Amino acid sequence: MGKVTGFLDYAREENKDVPVEERIKNFKEFHIPLTEEERRKQGARCMNCGVPFCQSGMKLAGMFTGCPLHNLCPEWNDEVYNGHIAHALSRLLKTNNFPEFTGRVCPALCEKACVEGLDDAPVTTHDNELYIIEKAFQEGYMQPRIPEVRSGKRVAVVGAGPAGLAVADQLNHRGHSVTVFERSDEIGGLLMYGIPNMKLDKSVIRRRRALMEAEGVVFRTGVDVGRETLASAAAAAGAAGRKAGVEAGEKSATTGSATADAGTSADASRAVTNASAEALAAGKGSAVTAAAILRDYDAVVLACGAKQARGLNVPSIEQAHGIHYAVDYLTSQTKALHEQGEHAFGIINAKGKHVVIVGGGDTGNDCCGTAIRQGAKSVTQIEMMPEPPVERAASNPWPEWPKVLKVDYGQQEAIRVFGHDPRVYETTVKSIETKKDGSIKAVITSKVKFENRQMVLVEGTEQKLPCDLLIIAAGFTGCESYVADAFGVALTERHVVKTEAEHYHTESAVKPMAAAQTAAAAAAGSKVGEKSGVASTTATNTAKIFTAGDMHRGQSLVVWAIAEGRACASEVDAYLMGYSCLA
Ligand SMILES: Cc1cc2nc3c(=O)[nH]c(=O)nc-3n(C[C@H](O)[C@H](O)[C@H](O)COP(=O)(O)OP(=O)(O)OC[C@H]3O[C@@H](n4cnc5c(N)ncnc54)[C@H](O)[C@@H]3O)c2cc1C
Ligand code: SF4
Repeated sequence: MGKVTGFLDYAREENKDVPVEERIKNFKEFHIPLTEEERRKQGARCMNCGVPFCQSGMKLAGMFTGCPLHNLCPEWNDEVYNGHIAHALSRLLKTNNFPEFTGRVCPALCEKACVEGLDDAPVTTHDNELYIIEKAFQEGYMQPRIPEVRSGKRVAVVGAGPAGLAVADQLNHRGHSVTVFERSDEIGGLLMYGIPNMKLDKSVIRRRRALMEAEGVVFRTGVDVGRETLASAAAAAGAAGRKAGVEAGEKSATTGSATADAGTSADASRAVTNASAEALAAGKGSAVTAAAILRDYDAVVLACGAKQARGLNVPSIEQAHGIHYAVDYLTSQTKALHEQGEHAFGIINAKGKHVVIVGGGDTGNDCCGTAIRQGAKSVTQIEMMPEPPVERAASNPWPEWPKVLKVDYGQQEAIRVFGHDPRVYETTVKSIETKKDGSIKAVITSKVKFENRQMVLVEGTEQKLPCDLLIIAAGFTGCESYVADAFGVALTERHVVKTEAEHYHTESAVKPMAAAQTAAAAAAGSKVGEKSGVASTTATNTAKIFTAGDMHRGQSLVVWAIAEGRACASEVDAYLMGYSCLA
């Protein structure tokens, strides 16, 4: 503890923000770092508590609080105060592979559990973390650390989101040879195509890629693993699924969106996404089959995220134009910035439009900030849950995760631009109205209430909202099945990859009886699965298939993806070597 009275001497000071009027003119990051002297004072506020709840990462009342990575916050806060950046960095990198990501986008579970937050403002741990890593890059401390000895083991990681990247980083530093396969043209997962540029500039991801490549990780982008299985399975699919998919695929072609407009249910939306993946299979990118990966690598990690979007149960929605899933909307804007420069707008453009966003959470907030930057005429965010309290309720004491009203950057911007918070609570979309050309012109909303945990509409509360662009940010229903199917791994009821609790080894989707038949067929010389393109996965070879991140835990947070990636890497290492020294 550098300054014993730091927490009494200095008030909490966060990074400043570029004023709303300025920042909405572009898609750049808008937090202005404190000076070095100011930052050291913020480090001095840490009290080096005997029991540092900030690093606990524990579940209280059903919600996590404290850092899931168990970052050693008091140690590096102290080093920040003392101006020892190299020391701070070494402590930070002990538990966190990518502080430049969490320092930008983490909701700071550490700060919610900070002891100083009990009767004063918590330490600015999140901003301190970003300061350490950015200073380290500036000062040249972040040099490639190339493993001196290679184990001779080859690991394939499927998916280059934060979970896959953390697995790759850990296993590469352990000496294994890692190849990361990524379907998109860029690595990063939702960090790249999901989280908007103003929260995370994409050069930060490319900087990390260059470092990891220099350290020996191989990235193969534009490769859709399991694609061939998908194509075969699609050929065999029933007419209903095909019809939904093809219609959606056609619409996606007309709007130019990467996937498609909203489905009416989880199943329909699954068909929608599969259709666009099928289109990808027919055209762009390349494929590697699950069988080839299982043949060529000693271990495989599936880290493909949980991007299956939840649709809206609204009549005729699949026939209308101007309705998009949030990630497609956000991706189209990021792609435009990449391809056409910093003033370009995405092909799904809110300019001059009345925008309605279904979902009052963080993804909806990102859509709100994006729509404002594109010049929307109005933005409304529809949320089915009641408005949270401004202060912690008595039943939600420190250090539990605070269930309080958060006014995020997009909502702050809406308040400034339109004069009011864009969110309306306890409301849903009941129906839509379209113009003659099929494009959406209005949504009819209804108030809702919950009876026996079921949402029901409140009769007589309907309202009509003008709407030229409807964005669905209503959450996610699990992972896209085709990768799991291709590798023959089992899914849970929540549609994520099944493992034992707190473990990362997958389980076979093949029932014991079917596995016996598979083995018998193999013994008889026939190549099982060859016809369908599905890997001949049995309970034995799922032993080398692991999973991590959202594909395992469901849509979550970047900090959890990294934590899962690290824990998974340790299991993979133990599988390959018989023991693991990875923490
Ligand atoms: C709009 C939005 C905003 C968010 N904002 C925040 C935030 O501010 N803070 C925060 O902590 N969390 C945020 N999250 C959540 C966070 O981004 C995710 O929890 C995290 O990215 C999950 O990491 P992951 O690696 O498990 O999966 P993902 O990031 O989804 O990455 C999975 C990767 O696998 C690839 N892939 C999938 N299938 C294949 C295949 N067959 N072959 C090859 N590659 C494949 C995908 O292309 C993707 O790149 C946000 C989520 C969304 C949708
Ligand atoms: S990763 Fe998130 S929770 Fe952990 S110390 Fe950093 S900001 Fe806090």
